Formats: sequence, structure tokens, C-alpha cells
Amino acid sequence: MALCPLCCAPTKWDFVPCPDCKSRIFGLEGPCCTLCGRDLLDLENPCPSCRNVQKKPPHFDSLQCLGSWAGALREWVSAYKYGEDSRMASYLAKELAHRIPMKLHGCPLVPVPPRKKRLKKEGFDPVGHLAKGLASYGHPIWPLLRRHGNTAQKTLDRQQRMDGMALQYALRSSRINHVEKVLLLDDVMTTGATLSCCAALLKNSGIKKVHALVLAYDENLLA
Ligand SMILES: [Zn+2]
Ligand SMILES: [Zn+2]
Repeated sequence: MALCPLCCAPTKWDFVPCPDCKSRIFGLEGPCCTLCGRDLLDLENPCPSCRNVQKKPPHFDSLQCLGSWAGALREWVSAYKYGEDSRMASYLAKELAHRIPMKLHGCPLVPVPPRKKRLKKEGFDPVGHLAKGLASYGHPIWPLLRRHGNTAQKTLDRQQRMDGMALQYALRSSRINHVEKVLLLDDVMTTGATLSCCAALLKNSGIKKVHALVLAYDENLLA
């Protein structure tokens, strides 16, 4: 018998939340603010609250996510990420695939690489498994980025993250010819610094548009 990964109620499919749990996930509908991840109600990017504080725009051109890193979505993504259960990836990928706008269908996916330490110690790459799930929706995986440096992001403050970030990622190849656009994939957007740094690297290599795709944005970290 299949069990809901969140509440353990009997359900129809393995590794898929039951209808009750799904109804507790308040997903976003339209495009998201590239600075904070919230729904863009008036479709103007960034959203009104980010416009007010005049934050520096990120290097990526748009952001799509399932919703805020809170409530049932947080439980669900945590169960996947920290429970290290790759079997949950295909359903999360399906939900994410629905969020990808038509004009980006078939667009290559560039996964944000995991920390080396994380891979060695735990052997689980949540973004990599998600990318594989999305590949079945017609998005080829392009591992254009690599990572060096092992500092866990959680231990750094915002400025340290911004400063250190540029040193943590690099391109596998310096020149990528004739690429119009890519989807940059990560699991959770915290400050957006990782995505922005990776987008800058990709654009420096000649890619014109970088669209970010994440499972959730972290509302608690909004300044
Ligand atoms: Zn449930
Ligand atoms: Zn915003």
C-alpha cells in the first residue's frame, strides 16, 4: 500500500502527497518576483515591496517556483532534500514542469552543482535528481557549472555569502556558443545570491537569457 510522504495516510501513489496534503500546499499561479520569489500580482518585476527597498537586481531574467518555503511545501521539500529520498524527485519535477512557461519548453537545464563535501558525505544531490526528473519533460541537462569550496551557506551572513559566492562556482568551459537561453535549477532560493552568481557566470560565457527555476523561496530570509 502506498503512503503519503507527509502524513503517512494511505494514498494511491508512492512518494506523492495525498490530496489533503496537496490542498495544504499553497502554490503560486503566475510569474514570481526575481528578488523575493513572491507572486507578481501586477506582473511588474520586481514586486511592489522589493521596488520600495531598491535592491540590486539579480543576474537572472525570471524566476519560477512552486511557492514559499513554509507550511506543507516546506515539509514536502524538506522530506525530499533532507530525507534524501530520490524517489520523491519525479513528482516534484512534474509539479515544477507545470510551472515552466511555454516559451521555455525544451530549454536546456543547468543544475546548480552541490557542494563537494555534501556529495562525498551524503551521496545525495537533490538538484541533480530533480534535473533528471525534468529531463523527461524534454529539457536536456547541461552541467555547465562546477563548484569548489566547501563552506556551508547556512553558516554565512548575507554579505559573506555575496563575497564568497563568486569564488565558489566556476564554468566547466569558458565559451558556450550559440546558446540563447537556459533554465538554471536549484532547490531552495534563500537570498538569491547563488542563483545570481551562477547566472552571471553563464551570461559571461555568452548565454543571453538565464531563467531561474526553484522548488521554493525562503520567505524568512527576506530583508
Ligand atoms: Zn498526506
Ligand atoms: Zn519581491
